[in-house]
Amino acid sequence: MSHVTKEFDDLLAANRRYAKSAPRGFDGIAHEGVLILTCMDSRLEPLEMVGLRVGEAKILRTPGSHLTPDALAGMVMGVHRLEVNRILIIPHTKCAAASRTEAQTRDVILETTGIDTGDFHFGVDPDQLGRLAADVEAVRSHPLIGPYAKVAGFLYDVETGLLERQV
Ligand SMILES: [Zn+2]
Repeated sequence: MSHVTKEFDDLLAANRRYAKSAPRGFDGIAHEGVLILTCMDSRLEPLEMVGLRVGEAKILRTPGSHLTPDALAGMVMGVHRLEVNRILIIPHTKCAAASRTEAQTRDVILETTGIDTGDFHFGVDPDQLGRLAADVEAVRSHPLIGPYAKVAGFLYDVETGLLERQV
């Protein structure tokens, strides 16, 4: 295959080691009934931060922990197919998706990389807690989720590791 290159070899080698003891032989149900929507940020460990393990929760990740159409679809599927009954939306402090406007995001990329991202839409939102409240409300009031699952919003502090409930 001509497209095969070596850039991923270290990860594939690690996978070969991982597969020797990878979790297997159980279903895709969220066995603690938990679904977490959180950010793509590499500082976050969504399962560990609430004391859960593989097999116990559904994890959805978007930039900024924003509720997106796919995240909403995952929640509806989680509630009705995978036994989810508690949904946590968890943005975090020092989030790149919450610290600048669209224009500022384009500017900082231009300044630091020289790349002009033009009219690309990043979907950032500096009103982090306002966005969280709106997203929680949208999920709570959704007719396919609200009656079936508890929904809450929390802020994760990347310095302390603590969650604080916001809504
Ligand atoms: Zn983030």
